[in-house]
Amino acid sequence: MSDVTNSDEFVLEVGAALLPEGERQRVVRDVSIRVVGDRIAEITQGAISTSAPRLSLPEQLLLPGFISSHCHVASGVPTRAVIEPRHGNYTLAMKFADELDDDDMDAMTAFNLAELIRTGCTTQVEMSLSLHQAKSYARVAKAFGARGYPAGMIPGYARLFDLWRTAHGPLKVFDDGMFEDYIPGTMAEIKDNLAFGQEWNHACDDRIRPMMAPHATDTHTPGTMLAILEAARELGNGLQIHLAQSVDESLAVHRRWGLRSVEWIDSLGLFGVPVFGAHMFGANLLHDPTILANRPYVFATCPFDTGVNGNLQPYPEMLAAGVAVGVGVDGHNMDFIETLKMAVVKGQARHNTVSNPGVPSQSPTIDDAVLGATKLTADNLGRPDLGRLEVGAKADLVTMDVTGLLVGSGRLSPEPLSNLLYGNGLQVRNVVIDGHWKVRDGALLFAEVDELKEKAGRAAQKVWDQLKDAGWMDTLVPDLPRFPLHHGR
Ligand SMILES: [Zn+2]
Repeated sequence: MSDVTNSDEFVLEVGAALLPEGERQRVVRDVSIRVVGDRIAEITQGAISTSAPRLSLPEQLLLPGFISSHCHVASGVPTRAVIEPRHGNYTLAMKFADELDDDDMDAMTAFNLAELIRTGCTTQVEMSLSLHQAKSYARVAKAFGARGYPAGMIPGYARLFDLWRTAHGPLKVFDDGMFEDYIPGTMAEIKDNLAFGQEWNHACDDRIRPMMAPHATDTHTPGTMLAILEAARELGNGLQIHLAQSVDESLAVHRRWGLRSVEWIDSLGLFGVPVFGAHMFGANLLHDPTILANRPYVFATCPFDTGVNGNLQPYPEMLAAGVAVGVGVDGHNMDFIETLKMAVVKGQARHNTVSNPGVPSQSPTIDDAVLGATKLTADNLGRPDLGRLEVGAKADLVTMDVTGLLVGSGRLSPEPLSNLLYGNGLQVRNVVIDGHWKVRDGALLFAEVDELKEKAGRAAQKVWDQLKDAGWMDTLVPDLPRFPLHHGR
């Protein structure tokens, strides 16, 4: 007998659903949704009469699949609980991880991507830390049926620290001779990443659409940026960057090119394609938000940017200026519900404690974060068929039970979206991507958890062993300069 998980057509009957309303979204009670193939065919209040298999979830909340607007999917396994005692310094752990072979890399990618899907993140704007990792992401996303916009970071991890900085040390990019010598290698990386993009573009029923990803503004020249822009135009899917992620990045760029990071990429025409930028600790909050609000730009706020930490990114200032703010997991925590929650909490903490004269600030709500992680990011991806529950949209669906112990009050609350603030990814019960069932009542349908654990654990052990041999485990990093000098990647 066919059930919802293996039928081309099915109906979900939910207690509540987050539906589009004008430019925003609103929770509507007692909704039925019919899926045919990869699309939403019908949405209505009350019942839908059809002979197709149906699943009744009267206590659950239906949401559009979440989009992480910035991530490094293979980075969670090797860094978790290793970087927190060391002020988020991920450099050596990720170096050893990046040097592992394809099998180990795929094991780390699979573990972390499974976590994202399990917690309702159906689309990843994925800035892999190297081409090696981007290829791994593409292989695993293909196997799992995830939707992704992968790009290898340029320069990739193997070369990045030759130029950029020592571990949490000062920037090296002030050395002009070194900078010149570095360019040819970067041009070669651009070529290789474009070839990867061409190979995978529109693969897997068009679920994979590669982007290009300059690491940041302080490791590039106008020549390398324009080459990346040209490659991004050819692929047609946009560009990812760590933008103004530290004050010293902005200073280095200003010294070299006479403009701040945001102004500089604007002057180069980078916003000729959609741009997804992360972190922005070094943004000029008087001027940059106004520029970015008028460009095809998503600021990916990443509350777990260097693991679990107290950093506060400028979410409230960008929100107040009208910048589209998405939510990214970055590299360490892969629970998308926790990430949404923490984006709100940290945004409110910043709004309540940081004030800059002349800079408007707006306290973010969970509604803002969910809108950012669905419709706003989808719009900037040029995807009116993603990030919303609408007839004709892709069937990327998430249901959550927000009524139970720890998260709810025994039944659907008057405003169940606010229950996400008490939730985590385990309250996600069902996930559908492109009409295919990925999670059914909390169980993964695309991978075996024990196998994911066994393989990822082997890879993690290799990284830990190397860290131990390097004396890393015996060293606690001295306190860093305080916010906002050295944060993020
Ligand atoms: Zn990042």
